[in-house]
Amino acid sequence: MNPKNLLTELKNRPLLCDGAMGTQLFLSGLAPGDCGMLWNVMQPEIVESIHRRYREAGCELLTANSFSGCVTNLERHDLVGRADELNRAAAEVARRASNDSAWVLADIGPFGGFLEPLGEMKPEDLLKLFVQQGESLKEGGADAALIETMTDPAEVVVAVKAMKRAGDWPVIATYAFDRGDGKNYRTMMGATVEQAMGEAVAAGADVVGANCGTAMDLDDYARLAEQLVKAAGNTPVIIQPNAGAPRNVGGRDIYPATPAEMGALAPRLLAAGARIIGGCCGTSPDHLRAMGEVLRKAKAS
Ligand SMILES: [Zn+2]
Repeated sequence: MNPKNLLTELKNRPLLCDGAMGTQLFLSGLAPGDCGMLWNVMQPEIVESIHRRYREAGCELLTANSFSGCVTNLERHDLVGRADELNRAAAEVARRASNDSAWVLADIGPFGGFLEPLGEMKPEDLLKLFVQQGESLKEGGADAALIETMTDPAEVVVAVKAMKRAGDWPVIATYAFDRGDGKNYRTMMGATVEQAMGEAVAAGADVVGANCGTAMDLDDYARLAEQLVKAAGNTPVIIQPNAGAPRNVGGRDIYPATPAEMGALAPRLLAAGARIIGGCCGTSPDHLRAMGEVLRKAKAS
């Protein structure tokens, strides 16, 4: 456990979260379509080394490798029976890499379907599944929960309630926004920035914001940060951009932003009022190091 309280620390200074886990797992040999969470027990040294590289780059929040750890996602890999083991291991591996000097975030991704009435999942059933996942991660040593890449405010409300039930820990909730016309960002489910932030705050999230996104370039993330801060009111804001808008090259998404470009984006995110910055798809420890250098300078001034 990190001895410091994350929310108290956040009042004193902005913090650096980490970057992509999936991107780094694929670079380490994970085959597309394979379950990356299995590596928490089959190749834990690789997962741990990715966390360590982010820690060494200056990241103070390490995101456990549990994004697809809701049983609805594990079902596709026939791993439902191992849900507790894989989620717990995700937190344990990140915990080891943290040396108790970084916060470990339980990563909660979308359950992969639609809530009623669009889909068949009942909110009360999903709540139970998220509570299970959150409890396993908490027992594995996670300090806070990060609900991310969400598109439906109703799912965020369920997830925030579930995380509050799973533990007495800070709960962070972030959505993926679509670029649209470059001014009026919306989630894939059509939620505006105001709706998305409003629902997350009302549900009790301690930190709210955005991660990932569709067709978002770096200027979009700077504009989005301003809108998030405005919509979040007194609740601190986190933003974790992709390394620019991806270009499809030979069937693969290539994220174009260099570490220097991400480093140049960081002061714009901080100036907009974001309190936690980090990276999503296409980012590496080098990108985060560049962002961290800017953050430390901002702190010193
Ligand atoms: Zn992403």
